This record gives sequence, structure tokens and C-alpha cells, in this order.
Amino acid sequence: MVKGKVAVVTGSTSGIGLGIAEGLAGAGAQVVLNGFGDAAEIEALRARLAETHGVGVIYDGADMSRPDEIERMMRRVEQELGGVDILVNNAGIQHVCPVEDFPVAKWDAILAIDLSSAFHTIRLAVPHMKRRGWGRIVNIASAHALVASPFKSAYVAAKHGVLGLTKAVALEVAEAGVTVNAVCPGYVLTPLVESQIPDTAKARGITEEEVKRDVLLAAQPTKQFVTVEQIAATTLFLCSEAAASITGTHIAVEGGWTAH
Ligand code: NAD
Repeated sequence: MVKGKVAVVTGSTSGIGLGIAEGLAGAGAQVVLNGFGDAAEIEALRARLAETHGVGVIYDGADMSRPDEIERMMRRVEQELGGVDILVNNAGIQHVCPVEDFPVAKWDAILAIDLSSAFHTIRLAVPHMKRRGWGRIVNIASAHALVASPFKSAYVAAKHGVLGLTKAVALEVAEAGVTVNAVCPGYVLTPLVESQIPDTAKARGITEEEVKRDVLLAAQPTKQFVTVEQIAATTLFLCSEAAASITGTHIAVEGGWTAH
């Protein structure tokens, strides 16, 4: 099902996106990597994925906060690889701060990268998927698409928006063989989570150890961090034939967090 398909994974130079790109390459997809980082490290990563899995892998550094760059990347994929069959909207950033002090520029950046970029990639990918009569769109949302936490106003707003976008587009493309779903991870120990620990400690007036134990893992009844591999496997499942009737919904992979 995934073999030979063209998969774009935004924000795949690190963390969850990288795990998903690995999973898709392992299943035989041609992969388009995207995200920031050291150029030599990204090239090494690209070459390793291509060699290990025997698939085509290209890298495009389009900035997901910029619609013009997103459009350029999507056109490039169309020209070089024939169009996007599997689209994983994963790029995301976070900022933790009380709402009255929340920097306006951070709000704008989070909305652009965590929400609007998915609108742009989707609008540009859907025509090809409809022509082909097959497509998979997986939006990496968050448990914060379902419930809120304090001091994350922009992120919670953006992720709730991703779920709305997921449902609306799923209805539009339902008859075209295209499914649109969201994956809602709980806490995964990636650079995104590691970097918010000091700010959360400051905002709540507690130590960083207490943040891990009393804030992050306190939210998850399993008391375990979710792994990158678990998110990648869920994404691969949504790309499979077995998931062809799953659309316009989400799969929560959050250790029971939203059952509270
Ligand atoms: P990460 O910081 O490890 O990776 C983020 C990726 O996005 C990197 O490749 C980075 O270069 C890229 N990126 C950031 N800004 C970009 C931009 N403007 N343009 C293009 N790429 C950009 O983070 P992660 O934890 O792997 O997060 C991935 C996704 O999973 C995010 O959408 C995040 O909200 C979501 N998520 C993460 C967790 C978690 O606990 N880590 C939980 C729920 C949801």
C-alpha cells in the first residue's frame, strides 16, 4: 500500500517527524524530508535513510511558516516525483507562557507553523490525490487538540484547529479514496518537550524534575512517555488499506491522558 508512494513529512529532521519518515521509508515509500538543522547532518540523514531502505529520499528546507515556500516545495515534489500521495503534517513549535505575557510574534508563529501550514500543504496536495483516487493525510495534532493545559494558549488553539481542519477536509475528499485523520500524541521526549521544561518550571514556580513528574507524566495514567516509534506505527496504520474506512477522526496515543 505504502510501497512506491511519495510521502512528504513536514518537520522530519528531528523527533516524531523523523521517526515517521523512517517508518515510511522502511515500508518502501519515497520520502521528502523537511525541517531545519545543520546542513551536513541533514544530508547524512537523507543518505542513511535512502541507503538503509533502498528508497528515494529528497530534502526540502521550506519554512512551514511561509506559504510561498510551502507552495514552492509542493510544486517541486510534483515536478520531481509526480505529486504527494501521503502527506504527514508534523512540523510544530511550542511556547509556554501566561496569556497576558504571551509574545504576539510567538502566537503568530505557532498558528502559522502548527495550523496554517497544514492548510497550505493540504490544499496543494489534494488535487493530485483526487486525480489518483487515493491519498492519505495524517495530521500530527496532540492531546492538546482534545484538552487544554494552562500557559499553552497558542498551541492548544492551533492543535484544536488542526482537528477541525481534519474533519472538514475529510468530508470534502471522502468519495475520492482520500482519508484525512489526526494522531494525538501525549508527551514524547523529543527536543520540543525537553525545551519547554525550563519555561514550565518558571511559569509554575517548581523545579524541572517536578515538571517531568508532576506535570508531564502526571497527565498520563501510564506514567510513561509515549515513544516516537508508537506514533510512527500509528501513522503507518492510517496509511494502510486496513484503515481505508477511518477518516475525519483522530487516534489518541497519550497513555490514557484524555480519559481523565
Ligand atoms: P521536534 O522539535 O523534535 O521536531 C520539530 C520538527 O519541526 C523539526 O524537524 C524542526 O526542524 C521542524 N520545524 C520547526 N519549525 C519549522 C518550520 N518553520 N518549518 C519547517 N520545519 C520546522 O518536535 P516533536 O516533538 O517531534 O514534534 C513534532 C510534532 O508532534 C509537532 O507538531 C508537535 O506539536 C507534535 N507533538 C509533540 C508531542 C511531544 O510530546 N513531543 C506531543 C504531542 C504532539
